[in-house]
Amino acid sequence: MNLKILSLLLALSFIPVFPFSGFASDKELQTIEGQIFCVEQDDEGKVNSLVRYANCKGVLLVIDKNGKPYTLSGPKQEIQRLANNPERIKRITGNISGNSRAWLFSLSSLEPLKPQKTEEMTIKGDIVCLIPTPGGEKVLAVISTQPCNENEPHAHAIKTPEGTIYSIQGPEEMIVEIEKSSNRKNVTLSGAVKKTDSGSILIIE
Ligand SMILES: [Zn+2]
Repeated sequence: MNLKILSLLLALSFIPVFPFSGFASDKELQTIEGQIFCVEQDDEGKVNSLVRYANCKGVLLVIDKNGKPYTLSGPKQEIQRLANNPERIKRITGNISGNSRAWLFSLSSLEPLKPQKTEEMTIKGDIVCLIPTPGGEKVLAVISTQPCNENEPHAHAIKTPEGTIYSIQGPEEMIVEIEKSSNRKNVTLSGAVKKTDSGSILIIE
């Protein structure tokens, strides 16, 4: 069979599939390689990022090879599988959403996703900048005393006095508002909280 006919046949065979995957463009799966960090509070109340963790009590962050940070979300089995994987650089597949100041990577899974409940909440706590080191080997958790909007775009979290950590997601202009402020202690943020198997996400609005 010549190639042209083969590709025509292939193209035809895909046509009936498309009407059923209408939002293909924003649901397209992507694979990235990166290192995963558990950002959690230690016994002294300090926020740390750990490469080795069994059960992350905080939130998970992936730093890809270019230093781009993503909050990681996904079903329990997938999260556990990644925690057990000894490779430093992990390959993960899923959907990317968000914006350059708050990327979210949702792991794809064959398991049906549990319906995710969101709850409107007001959270009071300290805003933590999560800044990857140049080689991406570490993530520094910094409670800044000055605006951070001039820095490389990075991820943010809010930590309550009880030690609960929420990854901050939301529209870019809202994140920039936070970045421009030097007030990072005892800040109040409102939004929808999504509790996932990989930590809590606060979507500011
Ligand atoms: Zn920051």
